[in-house]
Amino acid sequence: MFPLLTVNKLSMDFGGIRAIDKLNMRINAGEIVALIGPNGAGKTTFFNCLTGIYQPTDGELLWTLPNRSSRTLNGLKPHRITEQGLARTFQNIRLFRSMTVLENVMIGRHCRTATTILGAVLRPPSVTREEKETIEISFALLERVGLADVAHERADNLPYGAQRRLEIARALATEPLLLLLDEPAAGMNPQEGQELEALIRSINNDQIAVLLIEHDMQLVMRLADHIFVLEYGRLIAEGAPEKIRNDPAVIRAYLGEEGIHHA
Ligand code: ATP
Repeated sequence: MFPLLTVNKLSMDFGGIRAIDKLNMRINAGEIVALIGPNGAGKTTFFNCLTGIYQPTDGELLWTLPNRSSRTLNGLKPHRITEQGLARTFQNIRLFRSMTVLENVMIGRHCRTATTILGAVLRPPSVTREEKETIEISFALLERVGLADVAHERADNLPYGAQRRLEIARALATEPLLLLLDEPAAGMNPQEGQELEALIRSINNDQIAVLLIEHDMQLVMRLADHIFVLEYGRLIAEGAPEKIRNDPAVIRAYLGEEGIHHA
């Protein structure tokens, strides 16, 4: 296993608020890692730094490819970061609501296809071939997340849990090495939660690393190889689930919050 992502002293300020404070983190290729912490701890801000939505105030995000070449992610635009192999879903689902389920996944393929505007107008055989391949790959992903039978429905007709799975299919369409999931179990019923857990495991079996923000501690404890705990933007603990469950600083941070002591 090699370190896919190395975070060195990352900080993010919003005016006077330090949302992330000198965060160090390492995610190895193929791991399932969870990022937990009370509300406002800086978890989503970290995802936004990682995916180029925010430019960090300080520190470095170092990305290492399977051939062991490394580069910084700092300063890259979101679509360039996707090309590097990082894909995400959002805490508040972001789908193209009036497009079909299939089209939403096809959009994820965009960063892996070569068609130019001129090609789309002139439509040489290579473009037709690529389009056919895009549809095939997208369909296969819908099958994988259990949505093939609603491929031609409008995305906003899907129930909530299915929309979350569609977002995951779209992220997978970009061929990530690291999949970032921001509260994927939020709003799901227990059965949907179990299906989600199985899906995350199957994604991980394909050697895709997963970084998960999640408030469902039981899910986190079952899935994660390694857990990072943030409080007020600072890393207060990291380690295997068993260690985190018994860590006094973590228990203190969660006092009054449901979950960790029941997990
Ligand atoms: P939750 O579990 O509630 O989603 P979180 O751990 O994801 O919380 P963040 O949303 O990252 O926390 O917020 C961390 C801190 O940064 C909070 O104090 C928040 O108010 C602040 N913050 C986040 N985004 C911005 C922004 N765009 N402008 C100003 N402050 C922000």
